[in-house]
Amino acid sequence: MPFVELGLSPALARAAAALGLHQPTPIQSAAVPEVLRGRDVLGTAQTGSGKTAAFVLPLLQQLGDEPPQAPRRTRVLVLVPTRELATQVGETVRAVLPALPRRLKAAIVFGGVSINPQMLHLRGGAEIVVATPGRLLDLIDQHAIRLDAVATLVLDEADRLLDLGFAEELARILALLPARRQNLFFSATFAPAVQALAGQLLREPVRIAIAAEPADRPDITQRAIAVDAPRRTQLLRHLITSMAGSARWCSWPPSTPPSRWPTSCAARA
Ligand code: AMP
Repeated sequence: MPFVELGLSPALARAAAALGLHQPTPIQSAAVPEVLRGRDVLGTAQTGSGKTAAFVLPLLQQLGDEPPQAPRRTRVLVLVPTRELATQVGETVRAVLPALPRRLKAAIVFGGVSINPQMLHLRGGAEIVVATPGRLLDLIDQHAIRLDAVATLVLDEADRLLDLGFAEELARILALLPARRQNLFFSATFAPAVQALAGQLLREPVRIAIAAEPADRPDITQRAIAVDAPRRTQLLRHLITSMAGSARWCSWPPSTPPSRWPTSCAARA
């Protein structure tokens, strides 16, 4: 079992297989052993590289090996930029939890929905919390969660966290974490602000850079079409209907009346 060779338990490897994960992806091969060793990780990886399982599997194994505590203390905090990513990471976490030698609780929290069910769920604590920054701070302010026992922080899609304006929230959260902890930092891009954040967080990180597969790179061609302002909506409607399912675009002079626009741009491209 290839995941066992990376250091995961047979039960976790079986849980991975049940999720369709039989052969580790490159980021999983590189990251799983390092995470299990307790190293900080700086991962350059896109969505689709398998980065979620690359941190979820080893972190849950570590958690499962810890002695239970009552109430439960939050040991792993995963910060994500969006509700969708929180849900996706949460699904992987919840699928793997039954494979652990003891019962662990996960809380997946994000904004845009009522906070009350999330507060109720957090009663009694949760060892692993996946959160968007704003909602996490709301829950901290409501005394629904404490971060003083966090052993591992994961920043997933760190570039998007900053792009979406979470820098201040991140700073507040980081100030609440224990200084000694493991940090896993994943980002698809490394603009200066992302590099600065990585530099601030990570201690002698293992660097893992996974180049995007050609299939991961969207096939986008940019093109400008000159059009009179009153006819923009009409043009847009035409482009959407005629280009649906096609990767090809075309342009035509703005003087062409809409009645003479081609029904299929692809035919003219
Ligand atoms: P991620 O990059 O974590 O967003 O993962 C993207 C997709 O790849 C998810 O649908 C995973 O189920 C799938 N995936 C992750 N690891 C593997 C693997 N080792 N083998 C096959 N599929 C995988």
